[in-house]
Amino acid sequence: MSPTASAARRPFHPPQLAPSPFPYHPGSLLSIQDLTLESLNHILTRATALTNQDPLKRDRILAKRRVALLFYESSTRTRTSFELAAKALGCDTTLVSSLSSSIEKGESLKDTGLTIRALGAEAIILRHNSSGAPWLLEECTRLPVLNAGDGMHEHPTQALLDLRTILAHVRPGVTEVNADTLAGVTVTITGDILHSRVARSNMLLLPRLGAHVLLCGPKELLPELAISEGPGVSIERDFEAALRKSRVVMMLRIQGERLAGLQLDLEEYKANYQLTGDRLRKLAPQAIVMHPGPIIRGLELTAGVADGAQSTILEQVSNGVAIRMAVVERALTAGMNGGRA
Ligand code: ASP
Repeated sequence: MSPTASAARRPFHPPQLAPSPFPYHPGSLLSIQDLTLESLNHILTRATALTNQDPLKRDRILAKRRVALLFYESSTRTRTSFELAAKALGCDTTLVSSLSSSIEKGESLKDTGLTIRALGAEAIILRHNSSGAPWLLEECTRLPVLNAGDGMHEHPTQALLDLRTILAHVRPGVTEVNADTLAGVTVTITGDILHSRVARSNMLLLPRLGAHVLLCGPKELLPELAISEGPGVSIERDFEAALRKSRVVMMLRIQGERLAGLQLDLEEYKANYQLTGDRLRKLAPQAIVMHPGPIIRGLELTAGVADGAQSTILEQVSNGVAIRMAVVERALTAGMNGGRA
């Protein structure tokens, strides 16, 4: 028998990939994909319980535990809400920012991480301009690492706070999610998808709960090859057509710091993709308007829309504290009862 004939008869077994060793620590949150439905529900439930708890009791939950915030990129909402969340649970926090630390002198992420661990930190919240940096930090320190945004890759806590916001409006009263919770809900994400870690984390999360995500933007900011359309995710270039279908409209900032020479005609962009009061009233009067911030008024959306009745932008900010309390608590308690929360 020829070798080709025997190979043809052998059943085909796809190559078995070794399970990812990440995250090493059960309290880490590196990617939104790390979370099972059970973990997701645990975080949502704890976010609500901790928000409703008496602050004077809440700050005993993690009293004197040490949390470091390591930020290589600027941040207002994410940094402040992580810090307030950790403090609300009683943690001692310290901020290491790339502009005022030895990082400026050339210290590597590994050495900075090991130094922070030697100083007694029990968890590290990391924002970094390189995609994948939280995985490296976790591997070096084996501490729980919370990804507060890595390059153009992921921003898992943003997706969680966005989910909390969406549920409050679209499924009020729902406290537990499953694969059908958002069935029939179309979420349009518009703007600079290419550079957006917020878009990626939401695209990875919302379809798991039944939502359909429409990605909308010009070719420069939404190249077909960069996006894998799959179950629950598709591209719609026509913003007005997308608005007509949407219950949730998530607008994104054009990330000037990552454009790297990419030329964009802003007037044309605004003509095609700006969320104006007129478009919202006519095409999506029932939709909520979301934005991870920072917003650029007059570019991706008008000031009237940002401040309007359909905007949930500040609600998202408040939900950031709730979600991050739950995520910090999980980081410092996961595995204590032998299981992954
Ligand atoms: N704040 C979000 C982020 O850190 C979105 C943005 O910067 O436009 O990814």
